Amino acid sequence: MKVVENQSLQGLNTFGVVAKTRYLTSLNGLDDLPQYAEWLSANDVPSLVLGGGSNLLFKNDFTGIVAKVDLAEKSLIDSDNDFYYVQAAGGENWHQFVRWTIDQGYAGLENLSLIPGTVGAAPIQNIGAYGVELVDVFESLQAFDLQTGEVREFSKEACQFAYRDSFFKSQAYGRYIILSVTFRLAKKTDWKLNYAGVKDQLEGEPTARAISDCIMAIRQSKLPDPAVIGNAGSFFKNPILDKSAWETLRAQNENLPGWEQPENTMKTSAAWLIDQAGWKGHREGDAGIYKNHALVLVNHANATGADLWGVAQQVIYSVQDKFGIELEPEPRVL
Ligand SMILES: Cc1cc2nc3c(=O)[nH]c(=O)nc-3n(C[C@H](O)[C@H](O)[C@H](O)COP(=O)(O)OP(=O)(O)OC[C@H]3O[C@@H](n4cnc5c(N)ncnc54)[C@H](O)[C@@H]3O)c2cc1C
Repeated sequence: MKVVENQSLQGLNTFGVVAKTRYLTSLNGLDDLPQYAEWLSANDVPSLVLGGGSNLLFKNDFTGIVAKVDLAEKSLIDSDNDFYYVQAAGGENWHQFVRWTIDQGYAGLENLSLIPGTVGAAPIQNIGAYGVELVDVFESLQAFDLQTGEVREFSKEACQFAYRDSFFKSQAYGRYIILSVTFRLAKKTDWKLNYAGVKDQLEGEPTARAISDCIMAIRQSKLPDPAVIGNAGSFFKNPILDKSAWETLRAQNENLPGWEQPENTMKTSAAWLIDQAGWKGHREGDAGIYKNHALVLVNHANATGADLWGVAQQVIYSVQDKFGIELEPEPRVL
């Protein structure tokens, strides 16, 4: 394991903001893990596990060590009458892995096509898109515990998946490095086509490849490409409200969207709230809200992390003021 000092993070975050880390290392194999744990106990600095940097905002330089997970490998590890069990290492590129499963004839991940980042980060916020979440196809994961130095297996229940959340994003933040994820992909296909116009835009019979292609095309038409305009996808989570609070707000705002959730709650649309508060397309220097999607905070060129966070905070205050709802950022803000 090699540790280098004073490294730029600009190419390692999809906002493309200029930031530096005091130390940077790459975890390429399982042998690196005990060495990394030892390094951390010998050097009393903050640590950050990094995948593709597509769900992070660096407001400042990082004063500790960034460990980039570069573990690679993917294979079919088992199958039974109903499922294929496919395992991928934490450093595998998520979208390339999804397309690889399709090439092998395994269906189930197609709706999650073109989400940036790595396999190891996917469970952190239970990634989701177009009516499917990671939890729907998840079997188990293996993670290295930086406190005990042991590798531990986590079942679905132990991961405590919720909407854009998990055990790893909340209670255990920073404690585990996710080494590999095992997916349970059903042999009997159950296409999810009812979300955001997928059915209308799909050409011909549904297949995993056709759905993946269709979702890639929809996403490319709606979301900015981080290689062109820096962003981290949706910057705000959709708020979950008590049903009675949602009904009160709906009485004052007849177009307020709402989707039934468990335990008498409703999810509403952060994009709608931000749009109504007048922020869509807003720009301050190079920081702004994307003109085609109110959830996406964008770096048009040279915005700093502080500039972007400044715009995000104004959006949060303004939505709180207008609707009494406190928006929560989806990415990790550092
Ligand atoms: C254009 C765009 C579109 C997006 N669309 C979606 C979408 O549709 N749905 C969605 O859910 N998300 C979406 N995202 C957000 C993002 O792609 C996902 O959250 C993705 O899983 C982040 O992966 P990453 O490897 O880049 O994680 P990073 O940004 O590197 O890290 C995110 C968090 O995970 C932790 N982490 C990363 N890897 C590991 C590991 N191996 N072990 C332990 N902790 C780890 C980090 O410490 C950090 O807290 C989008 C982002 C962009 C830029």
